[in-house]
Amino acid sequence: MIAAVRRWAVVPAAGRGERFGARTPKQYAPLLGRPMLAWTLRALLAERSITAVVVALAPGDRRWSRLPESAEPRVRACTGGARREHSVARALEALSPLARDGDWVLVHDAARPCLRREDLAALLRELGDEPVGGLLAVPVTDTLKRDDGRGGSAGTVAREGLWRAMTPQMFRYGLLKRALALCIERERTVTDEASAIEALGLRPRLVRGRSDNIKITNNEDAALASSILAMAGGKR
Ligand code: C5P
Repeated sequence: MIAAVRRWAVVPAAGRGERFGARTPKQYAPLLGRPMLAWTLRALLAERSITAVVVALAPGDRRWSRLPESAEPRVRACTGGARREHSVARALEALSPLARDGDWVLVHDAARPCLRREDLAALLRELGDEPVGGLLAVPVTDTLKRDDGRGGSAGTVAREGLWRAMTPQMFRYGLLKRALALCIERERTVTDEASAIEALGLRPRLVRGRSDNIKITNNEDAALASSILAMAGGKR
């Protein structure tokens, strides 16, 4: 009998959010009265086909156990690492007794709490039969400038064919584990999973998502995220 392919989720939430500049770590910043990480987890848990979500936490994180979502049966935690890719690699390791190489893993940043159900559904639907996997992304619409290092604009970068990479990024468990391990071994910094897969010469599929699945980096983003969540109904 062929075992069914299962879906797992990994949430890197071990960053210190230095650019965020608040005392509360970014992933716990309140949005409409609820911590950012709670919104992010709710968005993933709403998808019933995800078997479990592993959250990579900063060492000594004391806020986690106060989050109601930490007690959800489908949620478990592990300790993250020095960089995002280390945190994801540790979460994948935590899944190793459960996951098979052919299973899907969805990696989703704690800092993207506005993920909509329809975007998640589109990712799952469009990548269903893909051997490698892919990611949510949005075509670039702004005109892009390259600075000259002194505050001037040295030129315009053609935006044709450029996309903004978002999360979730969804790859086969075994492939993603190997790709990240190789990057870590070669001390190659990668800011998303797709980069690690591309480094193997493979082509992750770009699945067009909503532009309001924003990543929160600073206070302006947090205010915008609160408005997006309020417009989406303020509940999940
Ligand atoms: O800092 P940045 O927003 O780019 O981080 C993206 C995501 O990776 C965040 O959810 C952050 O918590 C996570 N991260 C992590 N481990 C690190 C650094 C970042 O899990 N060492």
